[in-house]
Amino acid sequence: METDVPCICPLCRGTAEVAGVLRGGSPTFQDREYTYWRCAACGFVWCDTEPAPYDDDYWGTVDVRWQQRDGGIGQVSDFLLPLGVGSLRLIDYGCGKGTLVRLLRQHGHDAVGVDAFEPETDHTFRTVERTGFAPGTADAATAVEVFEHLSVEEARAALGEIRSVLAPGGMLLITTPFVDVAGPLVPQDWWAARPPWHRSLYSHKAMRRLLTEGRFNWVTFPDPAQVALARSGPPLVMGGETAEDRNRFRATEAELASLREHCARLQERVERVRRLWLFKAYRALKRLLRR
Ligand SMILES: [Zn+2]
Repeated sequence: METDVPCICPLCRGTAEVAGVLRGGSPTFQDREYTYWRCAACGFVWCDTEPAPYDDDYWGTVDVRWQQRDGGIGQVSDFLLPLGVGSLRLIDYGCGKGTLVRLLRQHGHDAVGVDAFEPETDHTFRTVERTGFAPGTADAATAVEVFEHLSVEEARAALGEIRSVLAPGGMLLITTPFVDVAGPLVPQDWWAARPPWHRSLYSHKAMRRLLTEGRFNWVTFPDPAQVALARSGPPLVMGGETAEDRNRFRATEAELASLREHCARLQERVERVRRLWLFKAYRALKRLLRR
């Protein structure tokens, strides 16, 4: 592909230009160059490449500890864990090795994971159908660091699958390295682009478009800034929603505020337990030294 010729955005059909050329993000791919394009209209950044396998080469480049604490899983659990015990039927789409699913289960949620590239276990499945969740019955779905791996076509199909399992008004939480937060693409030095795995980098505007097209509504980008939150149908016409719809979705904002309060309290409890544990360890050590 000639890199000086503008090309067409697969999301909005706007005109795109080269955003940068990067080397592959693992030893296997470091000698190859990947061209990323940016749409002038919607800010979507993408690389037109085939997906690479999710093998040891891939997992070796993933900073799992960062992902869990500050990245996607940390951000999603901030929202979901304070929701109480046994209260939600959840599906984690693109669950990888099932870390978030295990965490949610520990907190009493009825959670299952879906990942076409990982082996099946007692709580993770290859397809949505195999989860055993009946269509339209899940309260919430999460997609943690998944959409950057998919082409636009694959992302549309993924949203269709997620929508099929969500109850009307069900919540979808997406984390992905949004370009609004990650900043402009600088060749050779841009953490969000990891070719050939990260093929799609969304602006908030582009993600809103993808979700709205996929019949998700009330798209918001709450803090932490790498999170998109949306609700599944019914499809709303601008200004044509019923009072009932408005009330249902308005309650969500209050719900979010209360979630943040819960999070703060949870964090306090964790700190208290940690201090207590330190105090006990200190006393035990003192007793030992006295002998
Ligand atoms: Zn576009």
